[in-house]
Amino acid sequence: MKKSHHLVTRLQHLGTLPCDAEHQVAAVATPSIRTSTVRFHSLEQLERTESLRAQGERAMSYGRMGLQTHAELEQIFLALENGDRCFLASSGVGAISMTLLSLLSQGDHMVCTDNVYGPVRSLDETILQRMGIRSTYVGGHDYAALEAAITPDTKVLYAESPGSLLLEMLDFRALSEIAKKHKLIFVVDNTWGSGLIYTPLELGADISIIAGTKYIGGHSDLMLGAVVVKGAELGARIDRNQYALGYSISADDAWLAIRGVRTMPIRMQQHAANALKVCEFLSSLDATVAIYHPAYPADKHHALWQRDCKGSNGLLSVAFKGSREQARAFVDALAIFYIGYSWGGFESLVQWVRPQGIAHHSYATEALHTGEHQLIRLHVGLEAVEDLIADLQQAYDKAFGA
Ligand SMILES: *Cc1c(COP(=O)(O)O)cnc(C)c1O
Repeated sequence: MKKSHHLVTRLQHLGTLPCDAEHQVAAVATPSIRTSTVRFHSLEQLERTESLRAQGERAMSYGRMGLQTHAELEQIFLALENGDRCFLASSGVGAISMTLLSLLSQGDHMVCTDNVYGPVRSLDETILQRMGIRSTYVGGHDYAALEAAITPDTKVLYAESPGSLLLEMLDFRALSEIAKKHKLIFVVDNTWGSGLIYTPLELGADISIIAGTKYIGGHSDLMLGAVVVKGAELGARIDRNQYALGYSISADDAWLAIRGVRTMPIRMQQHAANALKVCEFLSSLDATVAIYHPAYPADKHHALWQRDCKGSNGLLSVAFKGSREQARAFVDALAIFYIGYSWGGFESLVQWVRPQGIAHHSYATEALHTGEHQLIRLHVGLEAVEDLIADLQQAYDKAFGA
């Protein structure tokens, strides 16, 4: 596959088996190569493999480090993100912990944007603090406060864009300038973009993390994380730490992710088209006070989305003026939208974001913090959008109707 081909084309052809003079007949689908043990033709071959690994190369030596199925998936992540090395983890949070445990040591400090995925704070409170690593959370658009939070011990700037509750876009170019100025490693969570519609490594990030659980898998049937790295030095650092920490994924999950990725471009387009229609519908409701979806023209950060993104997806939030009871009644009355965490699968999902869940987001308004406005997050799935809108309408009538 040539790099000059469109990404969509490459996503269809990466990870297929070779069909050439040597292999005259071949399966299209890559097999799931399940094994723990790798055998070597000779001791000399084993030693050659060991020496390649010592030089930081990806040489297959043992199941924990992944075999061909994993290697094919890594190539797909590299194509998506335009990175140099990829490391797989058993979940998105695993990919985050692998990265931060690789980069931070006792006495180090990290600056995080205050919209980061909730479990990042659990990692901080449960493990990083215990190891003597400190973190400070700052609004991702408040550059003065971000710079003021940086100390001589700060090693990492960690950001997520758009945030997964209020979907606010951050300016990765501006953040990467701050990171460069202070010699910080700029790490981002790119689960929203999954490399297809947003490529942070091209906007100045050093490491991009994707929860493959979401749009990569796309079918809500696997857990997966990926760390995509720019540069050999950072790559070697994560490589050593991944090996030492023992992160590993099953070949079957890698195989499911490869299968999922083939349809990601068309799935994403359909999620995005459905979500825009849902935004338009929501904007017609009396109780709607704000819609959070960067591809929607009324979103506060729409211009930034236009500048930096190549597409959108099915995630959006809506703030309704109303009581907690009305929000709960609305969520409970939905029939097609399932009540559940997560997103990126085929199915539509709904969450009532409790006020305490956004209390530490600088982008959330006072009305959201005090519960006068209710935040509902939707993942708009691949159902017929007319059915989704009818479902939202009937639930709205029940909860907010006269
Ligand atoms: C879901 C999610 C993760 C974590 O992924 P898991 O596979 O569930 O561990 C990380 N970041 C964001 C933004 C997510 O939405």
